[in-house]
Amino acid sequence: MSFWDRIKPTTRPVSATEVELSPEKTRLNLTWEDGVKTDATAQHLRQQCPCAGCVDEWTNKRTLDPARVPADLRITQVQPVGNYALTFVFSDGHGTGIYPWKLLRDITQPQG
Ligand SMILES: [Zn+2]
Repeated sequence: MSFWDRIKPTTRPVSATEVELSPEKTRLNLTWEDGVKTDATAQHLRQQCPCAGCVDEWTNKRTLDPARVPADLRITQVQPVGNYALTFVFSDGHGTGIYPWKLLRDITQPQG
């Protein structure tokens, strides 16, 4: 086995090619490079926020109470982080979570 075979990543996470917010901004729609379309509400994304303010970084336990995230929460901003993740600003002002593609694929639901 050559040096280059050994350092080659074995699986590259699939990434989204299209990122869209619903008109009322309460829902995120993703189209993935393998053709799959998924979506999730802003409330659900906020409840799954992986940042250190929402998940204890030592115990991995979620410190955010999901019941405190309102159903009408909106996404006010979506930004790519390099080519591996997205970050959101929510209408409650929270915006420190970085959502890698793999996490987004796991927490969004296939459409149809
Ligand atoms: Zn958070």
